[in-house]
Amino acid sequence: MTAAPLLINPRLFAAQQAHFHGVVALQQLPRLTQVLTDLSGDLTYDLQFHQTDDQQILMTLTWQAQVHLICQRCLKVFQCQLHRTTQLQPVTDETELTMLVDDIEPVILQPDSHCFHLLELLTDEVILQIPAFAKHPAAECAVQLERDSSIDQAQECQKPFAHLAELLSKKPK
Ligand SMILES: [Zn+2]
Repeated sequence: MTAAPLLINPRLFAAQQAHFHGVVALQQLPRLTQVLTDLSGDLTYDLQFHQTDDQQILMTLTWQAQVHLICQRCLKVFQCQLHRTTQLQPVTDETELTMLVDDIEPVILQPDSHCFHLLELLTDEVILQIPAFAKHPAAECAVQLERDSSIDQAQECQKPFAHLAELLSKKPK
């Protein structure tokens, strides 16, 4: 399977039912310096285009990346595996934006080219997925706390694929 081009015209690829798979270095996503301590490592993605019977274009994006975050409990850097599967729909104006169904997120197309930038999309996806209060899993943190609060547990870095089963069960058949 081939990597996606950097500039993507969704209508073109939906007609072909295109399916891309690739790896980008986090250094290719320089806006991530706002949220990450360093940009070492890679992001792997899988991007599939679909066209519905009523000519709607849908894209399924699945990605994962290992990033370095600062633990908000012990202030040490730790590795966190981020991953997400998103259903996306290209939109060109506000009318289309308001017509989106729940669970589908918009990708705004450039008005002249009707394209979007792959790296911009991936950057936004990673930023959305970074926990607001990143923490080590409790057993690995230098600061050991009494663990009686459910909030504490909820905000820990997600374990890889902990939610995969949940995602799969939600996928339309
Ligand atoms: Zn920690």
